[in-house]
Amino acid sequence: MIVIFKQNANQKDIESLCRGFEANGLSIHESKGAHTHIIGLVGDTSSVDIDWVRANSAVEDVRRVSEPYKQANRKFHPEDTVVDVCGRKIGGGHFAVIAGPCSVESEAQIIDVAKAVQKSGASLLRGGAFKPRTSPYAFQGMRAEGLELLREAREATGMPIVTEIMNTEHIPMFEDVDVIQVGARNMQNFELLKELGRLDKPILLKRGLSATIEEWLMSAEYIMAGGNKNVILCERGIRTFETSMRNTLDISAIPMLKSKTHLPVVVDPSHAAGIAWMVEPLAMAAVAAGADGLMVEVHNDPAHAKCDGAQSLTPEAFDDLMQKVRSAAAFFHKVL
Ligand code: PEP
Ligand code: MN
Repeated sequence: MIVIFKQNANQKDIESLCRGFEANGLSIHESKGAHTHIIGLVGDTSSVDIDWVRANSAVEDVRRVSEPYKQANRKFHPEDTVVDVCGRKIGGGHFAVIAGPCSVESEAQIIDVAKAVQKSGASLLRGGAFKPRTSPYAFQGMRAEGLELLREAREATGMPIVTEIMNTEHIPMFEDVDVIQVGARNMQNFELLKELGRLDKPILLKRGLSATIEEWLMSAEYIMAGGNKNVILCERGIRTFETSMRNTLDISAIPMLKSKTHLPVVVDPSHAAGIAWMVEPLAMAAVAAGADGLMVEVHNDPAHAKCDGAQSLTPEAFDDLMQKVRSAAAFFHKVL
């Protein structure tokens, strides 16, 4: 971290700020010219609040030269993290496809879709039991009953289940869920992230609607700082000025994340596009850009889905997609 002092800064203010940094275990490298007075802080600056430093009357500007996240940072963990979900691996050359309906709607629906996506080669089953809906009048999910039906679908197929949590009080209900999803709207629900950090269970962390890559990685850091290192990042499209699609898939985020973090990166082309026919090209782009997996919404009757029918693939379209994904993954030397 670099701190630039004002030309007319009070020497006492500078000194007391510097003593404060030293008390926090940082060493100071000073550079003093005729018109500039700069210090470089050496050591672990992750706990230094940049806004607090900036608010000091002696300070002109502050800049971070290293990232504020440590556990998620590739610099301190060069090897790819491989997350193992009941033997299904994601990351470090292992590619996984998570598929299923947006929400669990009935026993017949989830079992049907689970069997179909398994047959096509998906390795994990998704399905929302608690749904974060924009309208309070829209279907909110089957809640506890939805979790029960997911367990049944796991029993019927052997596929591990991925489902979204929305608040800390529900954690006990998610005890035997295989991967807990944190949705875009909760990416910065820090109390939830802290509690999930105490668990020994993989967490699929979706990118917030308008979150920067650094904010997203700081959210992963919240989970990891609590001791849970099994974090999977999921790019699901971001808000831009474009209105033709539901969101804009940030393909650039994939290689950028790969350089900044060792965590696996999965792409959700369904929520990015919002339109079923766009799922395939976006999925292929994601594989080519280096994703470690995909999350795809599949419904046995998209026209009558209670949530996200327009972006849901039929089991047949999903089967078709899987054949292409299989060849693309092999081309990029990924094990599916
Ligand atoms: C979902 O996966 O169904 C979902 C609600 O996704 P997101 O949080 O990315 O909107
Ligand atoms: Mn959905």
